[in-house]
Amino acid sequence: MNTKIIKIDENNIEKDKVKEITKAFSDGKLVVIPTETVYGLGANGFDEEACKNIFKAKGRPMDNPLILHIADVEQIDELVSEIPQVAKDCMEMFWPGPLTMILKKSDKMSDVVTAGLDTVAIRMPSHKIAREILKDCKLPIAAPSANLSGRPSPTAFKHVDEDLNNKVDIIVDGGTSNVGIESTVIDMTSNPPMILRPGYVTYEDLKVLIPDLAVDNTTIDAKDKTVPKSPGQKYKHYAPKADAYCFVGNLEGVVKEVNKRVKENEDKKIAILATAETKDGYEGADLVIDLGSRENMQEIAHNLFEALRKCDTEDIEIIYAEGFDFRGIGAGIMNRLLKACGGKIVFGL
Ligand code: AMP
Ligand code: MG
Repeated sequence: MNTKIIKIDENNIEKDKVKEITKAFSDGKLVVIPTETVYGLGANGFDEEACKNIFKAKGRPMDNPLILHIADVEQIDELVSEIPQVAKDCMEMFWPGPLTMILKKSDKMSDVVTAGLDTVAIRMPSHKIAREILKDCKLPIAAPSANLSGRPSPTAFKHVDEDLNNKVDIIVDGGTSNVGIESTVIDMTSNPPMILRPGYVTYEDLKVLIPDLAVDNTTIDAKDKTVPKSPGQKYKHYAPKADAYCFVGNLEGVVKEVNKRVKENEDKKIAILATAETKDGYEGADLVIDLGSRENMQEIAHNLFEALRKCDTEDIEIIYAEGFDFRGIGAGIMNRLLKACGGKIVFGL
């Protein structure tokens, strides 16, 4: 398939380009669009064949449901059978933005989108380009992250180009994704509501509206082997090619332990995912990536997937990653890191 690249400047969004994308969605085509979390591989959520093609292009297992993206709250009525008051409150407070809500689906929703579940995932992105496109096409756009299944999610056009060129009809080049990790997923059909995937909208943010908020522990606890409630969480997502380990504890202890392990594995190509505070303390690794300052966890989230992809392009064999607090956006970062490490976490340093 010949993939067309359409470059859009978010400060000058040309109408004709938006119209071309709307037409492509209406014609059942696959279009990759930028969002504030990561790039999404989109298709018309009412077009079952087009949605099947999303799974084919990504190599995504069919039991992993898709998120529908909308521009206006009014669009929801067609997609769901009921909206609890707490979900309405969250829409008011967090939309447009990186929060996905699981709601009871309407009869109109295809089993392809929901992977046969009786619920559907919905989010309203805040990215300017995504919003213009969604407003113009007035369709719910089903869009998982625009990476090949198993690779880190794409936060820049070049990542999408690496994974999906020739597999989709159009890729919109809209710069880098600000947030850098996928949306927070919250199940509004359970009582109390439960976070199924931590993200940029944090437990602490949501607790303001939902005092008894629950969390699916499997998403942040490497030792919990129960099956996660969100199908996507059971896959070893975000996995770099290297063997990866995460170190949690006192920072001096972490640096010391990592330096020791680097020495023990001198024959291997090693990368360290470090932070501004620690990067100068490491010795002997082939690559030390500075994810940013621990004072600015958003910057760390923003840089994480790019760093994991860099380890792949540099043919790194072992990754030693520093861990973070499971608080705030740190919970979202650790969820991705634990997946990248396949649960290999070293505590107590
Ligand atoms: P992605 O867009 O690739 O980040 O994947 C979407 C995430 O939302 C996956 O982890 C899915 O398992 C999850 N998801 C989508 N629909 C549902 C649903 N109805 N119930 C639970 N999780 C869902
Ligand atoms: Mg994904």
